Amino acid sequence: MNVEVCDVCGSTDVKEIKCKLICQNCGTILRSCADLLHSSVRIDYN
Ligand SMILES: [Zn+2]
Repeated sequence: MNVEVCDVCGSTDVKEIKCKLICQNCGTILRSCADLLHSSVRIDYN
């Protein structure tokens, strides 16, 4: 099991739901399915 940390609030309460990595604390989507597939570092905040 990977331990992910939210880039926004720093919480480790991060969960992967349907291909999306979502912070349960602040609700930020840290990574989408496409990001996971391509292993890209690119993150769109807008
Ligand atoms: Zn967060």
